[in-house]
Parts: sequence; structure tokens; C-alpha cells
Amino acid sequence: MKITRQKHAKKHLGFFRNNFGVREPYQILLDGTFCQAALRGRIQLREQLPRYLMGETQLCTTRCVLKELETLGKDLYGAKLIAQKCQVRNCPHFKNPVSGSECLLSMVEEGNPHHYFVATQDQNLSMKVKKKPGVPLMFIIQNTIVLDKPSPKTIAFVKAVESGQLVSVHEKQSIKQLKEEKGLVKNPEQRRKKKHKKVSGPNPLSCLKKKKRAQDTKSSASEKKRKRKRIRNRSTSKVLSEKKNAE
Ligand SMILES: [Zn+2]
Repeated sequence: MKITRQKHAKKHLGFFRNNFGVREPYQILLDGTFCQAALRGRIQLREQLPRYLMGETQLCTTRCVLKELETLGKDLYGAKLIAQKCQVRNCPHFKNPVSGSECLLSMVEEGNPHHYFVATQDQNLSMKVKKKPGVPLMFIIQNTIVLDKPSPKTIAFVKAVESGQLVSVHEKQSIKQLKEEKGLVKNPEQRRKKKHKKVSGPNPLSCLKKKKRAQDTKSSASEKKRKRKRIRNRSTSKVLSEKKNAE
């Protein structure tokens, strides 16, 4: 029983690895419902997840999930403790927290670039995750962890890519990289960096001007001094000569 379960997981993981670039350590985004189910099923996630997926895993969550668990109070105290031990990943709701499910859904937006797995018992969230291609879904059934098979949407997406109708996110990234390397497309980030350099770096022309100005002021100052000296000398000599004349 356990062996077939692991075999299935291995097969599904291979599918996500090959088609969506999912890599170890697997990033498992947990929500409150999953933590609660793990607690009830006495599942040690830190031990069992890597064993089940046969690879390194990283348990993570978001601030919104933690916030939601806090507001739900005593009943979810244990789940909150589990979630608090996870890494907190940055979500776009820093100032205005949203519900845990809405937050996790936003984390796998735009082709799931961080290759998150979503681990939830929330049926509503699961349905929405399945509509996004390339997001591995996990849940707990009868006290055991399950990696769901790739959703129909995910399989349809892969088929479309294979038949050349679509370009996968993975491919898009490498094409973009190639173009940038060959200089066909200018990387906007690089451009920004260059501009930034220009602004921050010293402008040789301005340096020259400054030096010149500094020299100018120096020389003029010394000239003034000289002039003043000369004047003084002249005046003293004048005074002297006047004295002499007087004598
Ligand atoms: Zn959030």
C-alpha cells in the first residue's frame, strides 16, 4: 500500500520536474487547514514529507496564513504552532492581510515561478489551484499525506506545449535568456543598472571641472596674497621712503 503510494508520488513529481522545472528542496506552502489535519493525524510533517517525496522539502507559509490562525483562536492553537515553525515567505499583502486561501492562491499566480506546492484541506482552494497549470497539490486523507495527480488543466497545458501551441514558462525564460545573451533584446534590468551606475558613479568631467575650479581659487587666492603683500611692501617702502624723504 505504502509502496504504491510512493510510486505514484514519484511519478507525479517526475512530471512536474520535467514540465515545470520543480526542483529540490520542494517548497511546500502550508495553510491552516493542512496544519490542523497534520495535528489530528499525528503526522510529523518535517519527517514524513521528505520521506514521502523522497527528497529535501522546505515547509513554508505566509504572514496572511499566520494572521488568520491567530484570529481563529484557541481551537487552532496547535495548528498555529506548526505554521509558526515554517519559513514565512513574502506575500504581496504586507499592509492589508487577506484570507489564507486567497493569499496562497496569489503565491502561485503567473505560472508559479517559485515552484510552490500548495498543501491544503480546503476544497475551495484546491479547486482553484487545480485550475492553474503547474501547481502540485497536497492534502491529507486518512492520516496520510497525498500528492495529488496532475490536474486536467495541468495535463492539457503540457500537451499544448508539446504540440507547439503554447510555450511553457520554463521555455519562455530560457528563450529570453538566450536572446539577452545574444544581445537581441536588451534586458530592462541591466539598463536600469547601467543608468543607476551613471548616476552613482563619479562623472569624470565634473571631477575635472571641480579640480580646475579648486586650482583656480587657489591660484587666485595666492595671487591676492601676493598682491596684498606687494601692496603692503609697496606701502611700507613708500612709508619708508617718505620717512627717508622727511629725514
Ligand atoms: Zn498574503
